[in-house]
Amino acid sequence: MHSTLEDVKLAGMDIKILPALQDNYMYLIVDQKTREAAVVDPVDPELVIKTVQEAQVTLNKVLTTHHHWDHAGGNEKLVKLWAQALDVYGGDDRIGALNHKVKQDDTFTIGSLNVTCLSTPCHTTGHICYHVTAADGSSGEGAVFTGDTLFQGGCGRFFEGTPEEMYEALCTKLSALPDSTKVFCGHEYTLQNMSFARHVEPDNAVIQERIEWAKHRRASQDPTVPSTIGEEKSWNPFMRVHESTVQKHAGGATDPIVTMGKLRKEKDTFKA
Ligand SMILES: [Zn+2]
Repeated sequence: MHSTLEDVKLAGMDIKILPALQDNYMYLIVDQKTREAAVVDPVDPELVIKTVQEAQVTLNKVLTTHHHWDHAGGNEKLVKLWAQALDVYGGDDRIGALNHKVKQDDTFTIGSLNVTCLSTPCHTTGHICYHVTAADGSSGEGAVFTGDTLFQGGCGRFFEGTPEEMYEALCTKLSALPDSTKVFCGHEYTLQNMSFARHVEPDNAVIQERIEWAKHRRASQDPTVPSTIGEEKSWNPFMRVHESTVQKHAGGATDPIVTMGKLRKEKDTFKA
């Protein structure tokens, strides 16, 4: 396994970080009140089942971010192996075992937790991010599961979309969440992304600090997730396309969408 298993305790919910494949993350979201649980992108169903049984929680939902095999490729097997019925959420008909198709602003619950769907097309046309909050979440400490749209320090490739759509996803929808929202992304790409972020903004001290921190974490195979929305705004070049430093690096255009397109193009061939 590429990373150690880790539990993150938030207001009203426990998040179990489960490594899969080369550098993917699956997440088990557990409602502390009811012990009901949902799993995000269960590409390795065996590890999900083992974790659910050890934690003695009730798994009844699957949240799929997008149809790519390294995220959705375990859905059918999990549904087959699991004795209880599973509600399988997602925003794309190409997702295996899908039985609850969702769109922007759709809501549902995991026990007493509230989930809101954010439609973020670009990496794939049907990509959904899931924003999870406790019902009495006065502390505001929610979580967002961003798949291959927002990574720590970066974003997914534009396979089925445009710079304008990624701008809408990162700078309008995800940026509107509270700064304290914890970001759980689909891959352990932090060091590669932060290396590009430093290339874009060499004088941004928070980037250098995060690189040092992430190196320590990865030396003992600890995951670097989660970050927060506020932190991403401070170091992620793709969320900083309004900043003059980032615009200057991307060729001087003052249009954030043009800057978004240029950054992604440069990152596509960037060698850390
Ligand atoms: Zn993908």
